[in-house]
Amino acid sequence: MTDAADRSRWAERTRMVHAGRDPSEQFGFVNTPIYRGSTVLAPTMEDLLGRTGRFTYGTRGTPTTEALEEAWTELSGAAGSVLVPSGLAAVTLALMSCLKAGDHLLMTDSVYRPTRHFCATVLRNFGVETEYYDPMIGRGIAALIRPNTKVVFTEAPGSQSFEIQDVPGIAEVAHAAGALVIMDNTWATPFFFPPHERGVDIAIEAGTKYLGGHSDLLLGLVSANERAWPKLRETFDAMAPCAGPEDVFLALRGMRTMFLRLKEAERQALDMAHWFAGRPEVKRVLHPAFPSCPGHEFWKRDFKGSSGLFSVILEPAPEKAVAAMLDGLKLFGMGYSWGGFESLVIPFDCASYRTATAWAPGGAALRFQIGFEDTADLKADLEQGFARLRAAC
Ligand SMILES: *Cc1c(COP(=O)(O)O)cnc(C)c1O
Repeated sequence: MTDAADRSRWAERTRMVHAGRDPSEQFGFVNTPIYRGSTVLAPTMEDLLGRTGRFTYGTRGTPTTEALEEAWTELSGAAGSVLVPSGLAAVTLALMSCLKAGDHLLMTDSVYRPTRHFCATVLRNFGVETEYYDPMIGRGIAALIRPNTKVVFTEAPGSQSFEIQDVPGIAEVAHAAGALVIMDNTWATPFFFPPHERGVDIAIEAGTKYLGGHSDLLLGLVSANERAWPKLRETFDAMAPCAGPEDVFLALRGMRTMFLRLKEAERQALDMAHWFAGRPEVKRVLHPAFPSCPGHEFWKRDFKGSSGLFSVILEPAPEKAVAAMLDGLKLFGMGYSWGGFESLVIPFDCASYRTATAWAPGGAALRFQIGFEDTADLKADLEQGFARLRAAC
């Protein structure tokens, strides 16, 4: 195993290959295998009662979970990480670790919708008040911070609507007022947005997306800086939302190629987004690398790349025409989640649930996940889709 000083000099993709891996502990095998286990035996009564072993019980970690946690902590530039069974569980654990009855939570209006549901149900029942804010508020968040504001929750880009937030600006203001900043960093991953370097205290990654990379697992990762880590670890240990060993193994395997897949997803998505921008049926492209995306200037300043997910707003068309377009697509599946090898599309409408900002883009909104198909084939499929759309208008 290399030491930390070596690794800190390496580029990200070198660390991606080496982090959390010690073949000398696995009889020379390159990868840490799947350890399944609840019970861990202690050699003596003294060891059992003193919990002297490196591992003590399945819920407290195994060599498999430790391998991914260590790797993620290193790649994220965090003080520590925990693994949970889904991205949503990562969001809820992060929030639970910093909030208690009587606290006030500032939540971006562009947040992943199930996060909103958690705030309206569990957090509300536990006496936490959630207030939504305009994702583009930036340092203006200062005006909303109250003495009992404990967390400012950010997500960049916004789920579906793609606003890029001024996360460092928000973090500076929140920290000055004693609040913590949580960020859902699933879209960029630490490769394109190093969250803790940018002022985020707790970062969430739905490993379901780019770590998995194949639409075949569910996993959440939560990383924290020195300030937030003790409470996060304590809350994880108290609740024990343990990820399954197969999913952890697959996520670790996916992580070894994540940077390469992200770079390819970036190239593919930019190609498609430029193509959409030139189509007469498209009103607007919501891709963080495009000036037409709200917060594009923050993306340019703070991000190192863009991934494979973006949205487009169509020129006004009846719903049945949009359905005719989508229903006949051969290469774009319609379904939730993203980050796999295959292209996907979903129609969406944020208008019914946003509360701090209006969503009125002036046309049907579609979110695209671009996979690894040849983009000429994807464009041909969409051209036929646009022909069906026009025919049904
Ligand atoms: C998918 C997603 C999640 C939730 O991940 P699951 O593993 O599906 O629960 C959280 N945040 C964002 C931004 C996501 O896209």
